[in-house]
Amino acid sequence: MSQSVKVDVLIIGAGIIGASCAYRLSERGMSVAVLEAQTSPAMGSTGYSAAGVRVQFTEEVNIRISWESIQEYQHFQDLYGEDAGYRPIGYLFLVPPERWAVHMEGVRLQEHIGAPVRVLTVEDAQSLVQFDPAGIAGTTHGLADGVVDPHSVTFTYLRLAKERGATIYLETPLMKADRVGNCWRVETSKGIFEADYLVNAAGAWAGEVARRAGLEVPILPVRRIVYATTAIAWQHIYPLTIDLTSGFYLRSEGNRILFGRSNPDEPPGFTEGLDWDWFESTISVGMERFPWLAGVGLDQQACWWGYYEVTPDHNPILGRMPGEENWVNVAGFSGHGVQQAPVVGRLIAEEIMSGEAQSINIDPLRISRFSSNHIQREHNIV
Ligand SMILES: Cc1cc2nc3c(=O)[nH]c(=O)nc-3n(C[C@H](O)[C@H](O)[C@H](O)COP(=O)(O)OP(=O)(O)OC[C@H]3O[C@@H](n4cnc5c(N)ncnc54)[C@H](O)[C@@H]3O)c2cc1C
Repeated sequence: MSQSVKVDVLIIGAGIIGASCAYRLSERGMSVAVLEAQTSPAMGSTGYSAAGVRVQFTEEVNIRISWESIQEYQHFQDLYGEDAGYRPIGYLFLVPPERWAVHMEGVRLQEHIGAPVRVLTVEDAQSLVQFDPAGIAGTTHGLADGVVDPHSVTFTYLRLAKERGATIYLETPLMKADRVGNCWRVETSKGIFEADYLVNAAGAWAGEVARRAGLEVPILPVRRIVYATTAIAWQHIYPLTIDLTSGFYLRSEGNRILFGRSNPDEPPGFTEGLDWDWFESTISVGMERFPWLAGVGLDQQACWWGYYEVTPDHNPILGRMPGEENWVNVAGFSGHGVQQAPVVGRLIAEEIMSGEAQSINIDPLRISRFSSNHIQREHNIV
């Protein structure tokens, strides 16, 4: 049925980021509509993530956003009456000598901000996960880091938004957007939507959504794969362990191990399916560091893939679009959107309602960094 809807804010995308923004904006009294292309929320990257949350970044803005987000996940049940699935299984970074100094600068920032992180010797870390220590100078362990349930979080934020008057339109992709007078006019297969503000929360599709409005936002989809083992025969909870010499990671999920490694040669694009050649390369790198993996089977049916939403510096693009100030980007998390979603929704609500985000300085994440070349490099990207 064709319809015409007018709201204060139109959010494009009902992933974990769009959901968080919808809640925070409707909580502040804005009328909100969310357009989602798929038949259900959380069917983009949010439904395919490895669900990790960590404070162990090297850039202050990432540490602050993630630490405050984790604290919200810790209190989710009390705040919203729903379980976010937060399990503090920890993140363990295995750090080679050449990265130790930069990594420790990150740890100092994390400690300064109040996030619980400890430095462990290679020997002490063996009780968390057994690994070959060759080429590892030391390790760091984030005690509040862990995993959440991204579906539960997304649906909770959407429920809270709906209770405050927001409407979610499924199977309603933005096809075209134009600035007409003082508002955005958006064409969809189900009719016209008008809004004072448009929030681009379309994840890996955010570059395409911007192009449909004649704007350029540098976000590309890149396929990422999570491999899953069969059940292991012993009882142990493995923290999300990242070998910084190779980028290989693993963690427990129930009685299985999930593992993966970003393929630097994967070209951007909406490539589909599991890549078994990359599996061979991944597992051989993994077994060098974690020889015990040789004794664990692979469950091909339990493996999955999804899209990272990648920006040129692997940090998200947040805030108003220069020249189109009622267009607000909140996308391009490059593999760390789940851990930043709770606070990002609040920052975008501040950006819209107060002119700019106030509780955390998001200048390092604004799109203008690419033209001014003020790019701060986040080292702990996986
Ligand atoms: C394999 C894998 C592992 C990951 N591991 C982690 C992790 O451990 N920790 C972490 O924090 N993050 C991780 N991520 C990244 C994380 O999943 C994303 O950063 C996060 O889900 C981004 O959320 P989003 O809401 O921005 O995007 P999405 O969830 O992709 O939501 C965007 C939505 O926009 C919709 N859309 C697209 N085009 C249109 C249109 N034209 N009109 C309307 N709607 C549209 C899409 O259908 C989609 O639902 C991982 C991702 C993958 C793929």
